[in-house]
Amino acid sequence: MRVHAYAAPAAGQPLAPTTIERRAVGSNDVLIEIRYAGICHSDIHTVNGDWGPQPFPVVPGHEIVGVVAEAGADVTRHRVGDRVGVGCMVSSCGQCTNCRNGDEQYCTEGMVATYAGTDRDGTTTQGGYSTHVVVDADYVLSVPEGIEAAAAAPLLCAGITTYAPLRGWGAGPGKKVAVVGLGGLGHMAVKLAHALGAEVTVLSQSLKKQEDGLRLGADDYYATSDPATFDRLAGRFDLIVNTVSASIDVDAYLGLLAVDGTLVNVGAPAEPLSLNVFSLIGARRSFAGSMIGGIALTQEMLDFCAEHGLGAEVEVIAADQVNEAYQRVLASDVRYRFVIDTSTLA
Ligand code: NAP
Ligand code: ZN
Repeated sequence: MRVHAYAAPAAGQPLAPTTIERRAVGSNDVLIEIRYAGICHSDIHTVNGDWGPQPFPVVPGHEIVGVVAEAGADVTRHRVGDRVGVGCMVSSCGQCTNCRNGDEQYCTEGMVATYAGTDRDGTTTQGGYSTHVVVDADYVLSVPEGIEAAAAAPLLCAGITTYAPLRGWGAGPGKKVAVVGLGGLGHMAVKLAHALGAEVTVLSQSLKKQEDGLRLGADDYYATSDPATFDRLAGRFDLIVNTVSASIDVDAYLGLLAVDGTLVNVGAPAEPLSLNVFSLIGARRSFAGSMIGGIALTQEMLDFCAEHGLGAEVEVIAADQVNEAYQRVLASDVRYRFVIDTSTLA
């Protein structure tokens, strides 16, 4: 099946309309008619080659919401007409300890990424900036009623990537959580941490988005460009989730953690981050990382969002605005996720 898509032809090149081939629907596959695809900063890192060489052309997009158009004979979880989502992962071995523990993203054989990944049949996967996709039904999520489709799309990456560390490190009542960077991931981290009952502080470069941050559920909001912030908040937080797409001064942020506090890095900048171990030793602190989340946890997050009336704050765009949107994301001028209306691709 030949379908419309938007692809980057080579590293750092603007995206342009194209068509791509989707595989035939296998017995455990579903064909999804895509409605919305979010723009994640990871799409931009990939297209720009920040993370090293990638296969090109690449059709990015791993925040996909659509409707099941066809289901293979063995598919029981999803039916034609169901509203579904696909995140960053479309397959994994299913057998290793990590897969069996619901951590398919850490599959020892390597998870298959939704785009620029090597599929089990050796072909390169292509993502959600497209009208249709064929995905193994076990990696397809149910998008509950009650979350608007465009607002649900970013949950498939920004939502789960922040929900996983918040849940994993016990964000909840009595916990002080800071979120560094109020972009796509950051704004979901604020909403989710607030809904989980934690006390939430935003650490943003400036106070430009303070009103938004407080409206999204933050209790406090500080500018990291003001050195006084780091004195005022020293030793304060149990958990810091860093969503910044560039390098940060890790030691400065570790200094904001209480004894036994953890800084979880989900931001994935091109450059290595360095730290002084005394920032950890001095208060039994931890520095950790986290990548997206497993399928069961992703479904839990979607159900949690439906229950709490949460979705992303989105700016819906047409496909031909993708390159402009990339520039605005790079300039931290996103409030708070661009989402492509895929009906504009045809
Ligand atoms: P985004 O929307 O661009 O948000 C990043 C935010 O970081 C910006 O809005 C800005 O917030 C802050 N920021 C940007 N440049 C900065 C700089 N030079 N110094 C300080 N702060 C800066 O990006 P996103 O889509 O949320 O993604 C964020 C990062 O997470 C990316 O690196 C992405 O690849 C990564 N990611 C990781 C995973 C995972 O599984 N670990 C999953 C998805 C994405 P303020 O304006 O508030 O300062
Ligand atoms: Zn992403």
